[in-house]
Amino acid sequence: MTKEEILKQYFGYDSFREGQDELIDAVLSGQDVLGIMPTGAGKSICYQVPAMILPGITVVISPLISLMKDQVGALNQAGIPAAYLNGSLSAHDYFEAVERAKMGEYKIIYVAPERLEVESFSSIAEECEISFVAVDEAHCVSQWGQDFRPSYLKIHSFISSLPKRPVVGAFTATATKRVMDDIVTYLHLVFPKTLVTGFDRPNLYFETHQSLQNKTAFIVDYIKRHPDSSGIIYCISRKNVEKLCSALLDNGISATRYHAGLSPEERRRNQDDFIYGDKLVMVATNAFGMGIDKSDVRFVIHHGMPKSLEAYYQEAGRAGRDGLKSDCILLYSGKDVAINRMLIDSNDGNPNLSPTEQDAIRSKELERLKQMTFYSTTTDCLRDYILKYFGETGCGKCSNCSNCLVEAEEIDITKEARKLVACVAVTGEKCGQMMLFDFVRGVPGEKLKMFHLENKKGFGCLKDVSVRRLREILEYLLRTGYLKTGEYNKLMLTERSHDILSETVKMKVTKERKKRMRDRKAERATGKNSELFELLRQKRAILAKEEAVPSYLIFSDKTLHEMASEMPLNDNEFMRITGVGTRKCEKYSGEFIPIIRKYVQEH
Ligand code: ADP
Repeated sequence: MTKEEILKQYFGYDSFREGQDELIDAVLSGQDVLGIMPTGAGKSICYQVPAMILPGITVVISPLISLMKDQVGALNQAGIPAAYLNGSLSAHDYFEAVERAKMGEYKIIYVAPERLEVESFSSIAEECEISFVAVDEAHCVSQWGQDFRPSYLKIHSFISSLPKRPVVGAFTATATKRVMDDIVTYLHLVFPKTLVTGFDRPNLYFETHQSLQNKTAFIVDYIKRHPDSSGIIYCISRKNVEKLCSALLDNGISATRYHAGLSPEERRRNQDDFIYGDKLVMVATNAFGMGIDKSDVRFVIHHGMPKSLEAYYQEAGRAGRDGLKSDCILLYSGKDVAINRMLIDSNDGNPNLSPTEQDAIRSKELERLKQMTFYSTTTDCLRDYILKYFGETGCGKCSNCSNCLVEAEEIDITKEARKLVACVAVTGEKCGQMMLFDFVRGVPGEKLKMFHLENKKGFGCLKDVSVRRLREILEYLLRTGYLKTGEYNKLMLTERSHDILSETVKMKVTKERKKRMRDRKAERATGKNSELFELLRQKRAILAKEEAVPSYLIFSDKTLHEMASEMPLNDNEFMRITGVGTRKCEKYSGEFIPIIRKYVQEH
C-alpha cells in the first residue's frame, strides 16, 4: 500500500498535513528525521504510517505511560497491531507482549526509555528486525529543555547495539536551537531531514484577563455557558486545585482533580474519569497533561500564570487537537509573578551542571518568566505575541484584537509614566512593584519607613490613581524598556529612562466591554444539524461505554460534525467522512447510518 492508502484505510484521513509527507518520505528512503511540530499538528502519523510500510517492527520511545496506552488503544481501534511495554504492565502481561512481539505479531511497539536496557526487551531486538526507531518528546534528551530525562541519553547505546542500524526519527514541539542541536548530538542522528512546521493553531482562540476580582465566579460562569464542553483548568498550586475543584463541585459542575499530592491510584482514576468523559472538567497542576491525547478538549483555562510561554503554549495547546474551535484563557494576577520567581529560585537545579551553567539556566528562566508576564498583560494581539516568540507572525482570534470583544482605547499616560520613572530614581531603585505603588500612592508602611522613604519628594504623587491602572502603566513601561527589573524583582532605570522626559507616552488600554463576545458556541454547532450531531454523540457514548474506550477513540467530534452535515447513507459515503477508515467503516457504519437515515426520513 502507498502511504496515502494507509492514511485513508487505517486513519480515515484524505490528505497529509503540512510536513507529514515530507518526513514520511525521508524515513521511507532511509534518512533520519527531526520533526518539530506544535502539539496537535500530527506527529504520530509521521511514524505510524512508515511503520506500516517498513518491514519488521517500529519501536516508539515515549516518556509517558498514559500516552502509550492511549495511542496503542487508538491504533488497535484502527486495526493496527501494536503493543506497549512499560512498568504499568503486570509481569504476566509484559512477558506475554514480549513473546508476541518475538512472533512478529506487532508492527509498532511503544516502550519507555528505561525499558531499553532490560534484558527481555533486548531479546526482542535480537530476534526481530527493528527497522525504525521513533523518539517521541525528543526534547527530553536535552538538559536545556523543560523535561530532561536522563534515560533518554541511553537511547543511542540501545540503537548502536542493534545488529542493523534502523532509521531514527526524533519528534518534539520544542524548537529552540540549543534543544534541536542536543537532539541531533545525543541521538546521533545522521544528516537528518529537519522540518519545522508553523506554530500557529488557527482553531485556538486566545483570551487574557488581568486582576479579576473573583476568578472562581468567572470560571463557573464560563463553564455554565459551555455546558457540554470538556476542559482543563490549570492552577499554580495544589492548594488552588483543591479549592477550585470543590468550588466547582459545589456549583454542580462535573469536575475532578489531579496533582502530585494525590495517590497514584486516585490520579489514575481521576485521569480516566476525565478521558473517558465521566467528568467534564479537570482541575490540575502542570503535573497533568503530558501525553494526554484527548482530542475534544474545548477549553483550557489557566487560573494562574505559568512560568514560560513554552509551558503556556504546550498546556493551552491541549485544547482543540481535533481542529475544532477551542478557547485558551489566561487569568493573570500580579502575585503569579512572585510565586513563579519563588519556584525558580527554590529549584535546586541539575547537580550534573556546573554553577555557571546553573546560573545561565536560571537567568534564562527569569527571562522566560518576563516574556510570559508581558503576554499576560499586553494589549496587543495575543496570537501575534505567541507566534513572534517562536519566530513567526500571525494575527487574529484573540481577546485583544479589535475585531473581537474588547474595545481598545489609546490614552496619554505621559504624566503618570514620568512620575513613576522619577520615583524609581528618587527611591534609589530599592522598590519592588508593591512598594513603589505604596510610595506613589502615599500609603505609609514598614518597608518605606525602614528605607526612610516616606519624606522623599514624590511620596503620594499619584494618590488618585488606582493600583490596577498603575499596574497597567508599569507593565507598559517594562515592556517598552523605560524601566526594567533587577535582582529580587526591584524596579530599575534603563538607558531609555531619561527619554521619558522628552517623549509623549501613549498606551492602549482595554475599555469597558462594549458588547458581549459573539456567541462562539452557536458558531461551533453546525447550525441546523446540531440535533443530528447530538443523536450521533449519544450513540458514540453508548458504544464507548460498551467497549470501555474513550469516546473520541471511536470518532472525534469533528468526524461526528461532518457526519451530521454530510449525512452519509451508505458505506461508500460513510468512508468519505474525515476520520473514517476501512476498519472503522466496517465496525461502525451499521451503528451510525441507521440513525442518519431515520433523521433524514423524519425531516
Ligand atoms: P501531536 O503528537 O503532534 O501533538 P497527534 O499526533 O496527537 O499530534 O495528532 C493530533 C490530532 O490530529 C489527532 O487527532 C490525529 O489523529 C489528527 N491528525 C493527524 N494527522 C492528520 C491528518 N493528516 N488529517 C487529519 N487529522 C490528522
